[in-house]
Amino acid sequence: MNATTTRQRLVVIGNGMAGINTVEQILKLDPQRYEITVFGSEPYPNYNRIQLSYVLEKSKSIDEIILNSWEWYRENGIDLRTGTTVTRIDTDSRTVHTEDGTVVPYDKVIVATGSKPLMLPIPGADKEGIVGFRDIADCETMLHAAKLYRKAAVIGGGLLGLEAAKGLLKLGMDVTVVHLVEELMERQLDRTASLMLQAELESQGLKFATGRQTAEFLGGQRVTGLRFSDGTTLEAEFVVMAAGIRPNTEVGRASGLTVNRGIVVDDYMRSSAPDVYAVGECGEHRGVCYGLVAPLFEQGAVLAKHLCGVETKPYEGSVVSTQLKISGVDVFSAGEFMDAPDLNVVRMHDEWHRIYKKVLLRGGRIVGGVLVGDGKQAARLQQWIRTGTVMTEEIHAAIMGTAAAEAGNSAADLPDEEIVCGCNGVTKKHIVDAIRDNGLTTVDEIKACTGASRSCGGCRPVVEQILQFTLGDKYDSAAAKKEGICGCTKLTRDEVVAGIQEKGLLTSKEVMHVLGWDNPEGCSKCRPALNYYLGMIWPAEHQDEKDSRFVNERMHANIQKDGTFGVVPRMYGGVTTPEDLRLIADVAVKYNVKLVKVTGGQRLDLLGVSKEDLPKIWEDLGMPSGYAYAKALRTVKTCVGSQFCRFGTKDSMGMGILLEKKFERLDMPAKFKLAVNGCPRNCAESSTKDIGIVGNEGAWEIYVGGNGGIKSRLADLLCKVKTDEELVEIVAAFMQHYRETGKYLERTSDWIERVGLASVTAAVVEDTENRKALAARMETALSQVKEPWKEVLDNPVLRQRLYSEIQVPVGTK
Ligand SMILES: Cc1cc2nc3c(=O)[nH]c(=O)nc-3n(C[C@H](O)[C@H](O)[C@H](O)COP(=O)(O)OP(=O)(O)OC[C@H]3O[C@@H](n4cnc5c(N)ncnc54)[C@H](O)[C@@H]3O)c2cc1C
Ligand code: SF4
Repeated sequence: MNATTTRQRLVVIGNGMAGINTVEQILKLDPQRYEITVFGSEPYPNYNRIQLSYVLEKSKSIDEIILNSWEWYRENGIDLRTGTTVTRIDTDSRTVHTEDGTVVPYDKVIVATGSKPLMLPIPGADKEGIVGFRDIADCETMLHAAKLYRKAAVIGGGLLGLEAAKGLLKLGMDVTVVHLVEELMERQLDRTASLMLQAELESQGLKFATGRQTAEFLGGQRVTGLRFSDGTTLEAEFVVMAAGIRPNTEVGRASGLTVNRGIVVDDYMRSSAPDVYAVGECGEHRGVCYGLVAPLFEQGAVLAKHLCGVETKPYEGSVVSTQLKISGVDVFSAGEFMDAPDLNVVRMHDEWHRIYKKVLLRGGRIVGGVLVGDGKQAARLQQWIRTGTVMTEEIHAAIMGTAAAEAGNSAADLPDEEIVCGCNGVTKKHIVDAIRDNGLTTVDEIKACTGASRSCGGCRPVVEQILQFTLGDKYDSAAAKKEGICGCTKLTRDEVVAGIQEKGLLTSKEVMHVLGWDNPEGCSKCRPALNYYLGMIWPAEHQDEKDSRFVNERMHANIQKDGTFGVVPRMYGGVTTPEDLRLIADVAVKYNVKLVKVTGGQRLDLLGVSKEDLPKIWEDLGMPSGYAYAKALRTVKTCVGSQFCRFGTKDSMGMGILLEKKFERLDMPAKFKLAVNGCPRNCAESSTKDIGIVGNEGAWEIYVGGNGGIKSRLADLLCKVKTDEELVEIVAAFMQHYRETGKYLERTSDWIERVGLASVTAAVVEDTENRKALAARMETALSQVKEPWKEVLDNPVLRQRLYSEIQVPVGTK
């Protein structure tokens, strides 16, 4: 009998932090035990929900918060069904049923459906412009709203509400936090701490309406404001409800499980039905529903052991702690935090340094604490609370000592068994052993090896201190913070590129082998990056490694959330003809295309095309690919210009078409957009493009580094040139310089911020010899590009393999 037939079938409902953490633990304990299927409503692999606040304030991209890549699921043999909502479990027939009619049998099933935002039933709550803050879709709605509206209200002055408010403030909105009681975070902070927090946030620009109850949302179809129960009003064009969460128990209820607030589970996460378990925020353990990851991971650890037949202590509940993730605001709270007659309180309030520390003792044992303005001892305080440690002179001095006195490395004093990363339960000993056993030298390596700092990231400074203390003289501060291109190597982008050049490496396999990758297979981060760097360095010699490319680039079309594709034919400069339009319309009708959309880049997108129809459509269109999916030149947007416009001083359409024809198909570090305008009225929006060209007084102005996406940035003026030839040469040199020095996936907006405009100007404009050399290397690269749709049509094997055989999961990148 082979291994798969003896495996039990484990179905996980919910592809979020608790469910996948449990799966990770199971894979560590007994990787062959289960055949695993995971259902997730969202179209993404598991991501770090905690860090949505960073996505909102644009300090991280969605890619950067993905915890488990598509490859991870594939490599572990997990059947991942994203974009699929489970409706119920039939506990009699032992099957899981989904919204789209799929039925999957199970031997064991884990419900990990998380929570939903609590949407208060206030009159008018169904108006447009009122959202919760729970997932990537909410984040995207908020990012979009910040572009269109100015005045926002956030209902809820808890952790989530304050992080949402700060994010919207950073996006340029005028934000008021509305809170029912007078004190912010009143479930974690006492009045002193709460007032300090409010003062700090006010100094950063947030406004507050505390002690206010929202009675009604004002406006027509869309919200325009709030009316409070005292009759006063607040103008708001956009509202985030962050008034709490509600365990998502729909599947539990529909399956007949015992549900109170959450799905009721025992100390081994068993629900009321045999072989049905619940973990995470959807569960209720001993009457408590948790809303933070640390307890959920503790539950997951117990459940994984139980499911793998490994002896385990029961889960008996958790002490939770809260740390606000807002830059410049250090706030921590754990356990009890309010004065009470049976408690002794140790307190320090330094108004000058704006530091407040409070530790609560019952019978001499530490049972809670609050830190504001100085959270360095947060991890230790949490551990002392968790273990009910008796207060000593040393602990008192460690917590209450001044910030200056504590400035040294306190990692040496941490006991071995002290938990450093509360979210993932990683101890100091675990970190020290990992550093010694594996020769780790950077915080990122420790994260990859132990999981410490992987979730909220609050313990990163302590992890670095432990690294410093463990390495002693060998510790190199700059190197410790150095970020390898992924967890498979310590090498940075520049070191990898230099290694490829110096050692003449031609394939990713060679790079990984010769440059000593820790993971010899690479991962979803480094494989596409290496493929790009190799192609950029050796344009003639490098054989494109198609399997390393993201699925959109492999398929030469954009995958949509329902698993269909979008097809964008090339339309140079956004200019078309009646004949081409007629052809596109005929093809759209013939293949029953669901939607035809004019894109922001002036192209036509045929949406809702099945994978099998892609080659047929390309064949019928007979047009080149518009590359709307690639890390390459996407579009050159043009205005009407001097050919027709009264104001036009330059032929923007002609120049746009010329540039698009010249530079199409070339791989770039990230997607790349151009615009050409006939005059400074700038109808084609040059200021938000990687290169924006503006005709002005008989010359061309060249702007660079603009971005109109999530992380918007206005382009900088690079230079002004007189002739078309100079323009084309500088554009070529600029693009090649970016290709040669940009990190894979780094947009020009970030690249210019990193390397500085002056260095780009020097390399591309001032140093004419270098400019010509760059433009010449660009010509070599351009001589190698091929039209991808034609390549597929001319290659029946590739066509069969990609468009008939491969199954592409929904939401795949
Ligand atoms: C903005 C924000 C900031 C946060 N900050 C912190 C913090 O600083 N520290 C901290 O500890 N915690 C924080 N949290 C809370 C933390 O993210 C959650 O505790 C954790 O994600 C819960 O994990 P879970 O797996 O139970 O639920 P989730 O991560 O929500 O996962 C549940 C998944 O199940 C899916 N699902 C639901 N129903 C179905 C169905 N019927 N079929 C298929 N799939 C389904 C959902 O779409 C979701 O993807 C924060 C949360 C948010 C939103
Ligand atoms: S940018 Fe100037 S030339 Fe171009 S369409 Fe607008 S007004 Fe006319």
